[in-house]
Amino acid sequence: MRTLPAFAAALALTLAGASAFPVAALAAPSKAPPTLAKACAGRDGWSDPAPPQHIFANTWYVGTCGITAVLVTSPQGHILIDAGPVEAAPLVARNIAAAGFRIADVRWIVLSHEHIDHAGGLATLKRLTGARIAAMPAAARVLESGKLPADDPQSGWLKPYPAVRVDRLLHEGDTVQVGVLRLVAHATPGHAPGSTSWTWTSCAGRDCRAMAYVDSVSAMAAPGWRFADHPAYVAAFRASLARIAGLPCTLLITPHPGASDLFERLAAGTPSPSPGACRTYAARDRAGLEDVLAKEAASPQRPAP
Ligand SMILES: [Zn+2]
Repeated sequence: MRTLPAFAAALALTLAGASAFPVAALAAPSKAPPTLAKACAGRDGWSDPAPPQHIFANTWYVGTCGITAVLVTSPQGHILIDAGPVEAAPLVARNIAAAGFRIADVRWIVLSHEHIDHAGGLATLKRLTGARIAAMPAAARVLESGKLPADDPQSGWLKPYPAVRVDRLLHEGDTVQVGVLRLVAHATPGHAPGSTSWTWTSCAGRDCRAMAYVDSVSAMAAPGWRFADHPAYVAAFRASLARIAGLPCTLLITPHPGASDLFERLAAGTPSPSPGACRTYAARDRAGLEDVLAKEAASPQRPAP
């Protein structure tokens, strides 16, 4: 299902990442694909085209310069995580093909959360791939209407997007499977009500990594929406951060690549295992949430809705 040149490029990247030799010693510079860091230097727009890049074993980056989409592959078919905005959908499809895979072999599409920058392109990608879509109930409601509900902190400023039918509702700990692939869904509401993080194991020979695609956890709200006015939502947000800190996680990937310096970490090939990455990521945004709450407490008047 993979073309030979892409396989050779992947092998070169894998070897480069695993070797003590400098990258240039193994990868022919004239033929090596540009890394994301190079190709996206100075560009981080949601729809700025990026090349696909091998992350590790069966896992590929197929997103844009500003928004992540991840393809987890198997001989029996693939799972795509996230679609990017509407304009990025054809770029994601092109990257899947450029990485050497058939877009018709994508069996399931899942997502991080139901905001336009990650879900806007789902309807197009569902049409292009013929894949089914699985989502948590809170995300599914938005995907099927294209509109954010009032309980989403960013409903006041994020635009609607093309609706798409959801084929399967997911709950905490559910697994999405294709052949040997098993992606575990973790409900991590906070940034959005339907926020979902994903874990799976990828192996290159005997080298196995606990892959963690952890959703955004920034406490962002449109004017007029205050976390302090939603104590149950804040409690669930804090619980999500604790859940994320405990995920199996030796290779962290995030829906906004810059949130975990993904391109920099991939610049020299496969990043080395970093078991504390999810803990660090959760701790940083836990501090961010507490900071937002403190600021809200210090300015009790509500801004005009
Ligand atoms: Zn978002």
